[in-house]
Amino acid sequence: MHGETIYYQPAIETMSREEIEKLQVKRLKETITQATKSPFYRAEYSKIGVDASTITSINDIRKLPFTTKADLRDSYPFGLVVDGMKDKVVRLHSSSGTTGHPTVICHSQHDLDQWAMRVARSLYMVGVRETDVFQNSSGYGMFTGGLGFQYGAEKLGALTVPAAAGNTPRQIKFIQDFDTTVIHAIPSYTSRLYEGFVEMGIDVKKETNLKILLIGAEPHTDEQRKKIEANFGAKAYNSFGLSEMSGPGVAFECTYQDGLHIWEDCYIVEIVNPETLEPVADGEIGELVLTTLDRDAMPIIRYRTRDLTRFIVGDCACGRTHRRIDRVKGRSDDMFIVKGVNIFPMQIEKVLMEFEQIGTNYLITIANVGSNDEIKIEVELNTMFTDDYSKLEKLGKEITRKLRDEILITPKVLLVGKNSLPQQDGKAVRVSDLRDK
Ligand code: ADP
Ligand code: ZN
Repeated sequence: MHGETIYYQPAIETMSREEIEKLQVKRLKETITQATKSPFYRAEYSKIGVDASTITSINDIRKLPFTTKADLRDSYPFGLVVDGMKDKVVRLHSSSGTTGHPTVICHSQHDLDQWAMRVARSLYMVGVRETDVFQNSSGYGMFTGGLGFQYGAEKLGALTVPAAAGNTPRQIKFIQDFDTTVIHAIPSYTSRLYEGFVEMGIDVKKETNLKILLIGAEPHTDEQRKKIEANFGAKAYNSFGLSEMSGPGVAFECTYQDGLHIWEDCYIVEIVNPETLEPVADGEIGELVLTTLDRDAMPIIRYRTRDLTRFIVGDCACGRTHRRIDRVKGRSDDMFIVKGVNIFPMQIEKVLMEFEQIGTNYLITIANVGSNDEIKIEVELNTMFTDDYSKLEKLGKEITRKLRDEILITPKVLLVGKNSLPQQDGKAVRVSDLRDK
């Protein structure tokens, strides 16, 4: 028998900036030494003449080239795996390859253990304990939200329910029968789950023990989160990760819900201007660039995530010193341009979620109408709302007006009944661009 393992490590989580940077420099040098044993980095780094000795301070990282998704694809499948580590690789994950090869990430047992530690640490931070029952509604398999959370929650010692994706009535039965207290779900699935409770006539607030939701893997606004929290009567914490950086457990909100702590003992974080590739000023939005510091089989250095975020300036009330990033507002490629205006889906979601008559599911369609581009936004109403036509018309007008103020273009807003938009398995697709390319 042993006591409860505490996954709060103040010696690491509250290190001074100086100590963090010292650790990062040491680990970065080790990472470079390890990475240059892979065919990809060996070729890249010898071409420009950089190696571990290039690094004497943290800012020297800027002397190293970026690694892009295209690099990973071009080296498919094993070009970034360190020589001699191939036999030590025990699992690979791959992220969806919509075009060309998918990207493949290989993990040694050490890499998996470190990943599980980060997830356990993140879960502990938001109050998950070994007495909790943790249900995971993520797809298992190649999607890292499945196994990533699974091993992290097991390491923490929670009772895990690997329910996997879909089958809402079964999820609900498990939540009730096993007294699930914590659930991990992608934000778009939480609304289906909530609808499921409503349809089954179960009051999720009174008839379940759910107290914590972990939501992530896709962009969502704070307004959407608040809706989710109100629906479930539980706290919802933002979880950020990507397969290339292992998966969940890269950055996580603490209980103050004011930005996501990024685990700086395991990653070097940079935010750069996507055009100039120079660091942005603290607090300014740019592209997140990440370097792994504790991966053996397949280290990745200065990975351009294409995710847009900013550093939250100042100290966090929780006392952790690892820097916080703001919720990711999307990938640079989520942005669409209509009539010369750059628009992010999250700008639209933010406005929609302000209306309590609106549910959480919506779909943005952009199409050529005559010689013009038109934005159509279909929005599901929530359960409680009236079918009084004049009220709906008024609501539609009000939403259109607020959207125009936000995106400077007048969209066509269509209010549709709940559950009438296509349900997606996996991550929600918010935008459908039907324009001729
Ligand atoms: P895929 O590329 O197939 O979607 P991943 O699971 O690796 O595979 O996706 C990681 C991406 O998902 C991130 O780069 C980011 O764009 C998005 N993402 C993950 N977590 C969040 C989050 N909490 N908020 C916003 N976006 C997120
Ligand atoms: Zn904090």
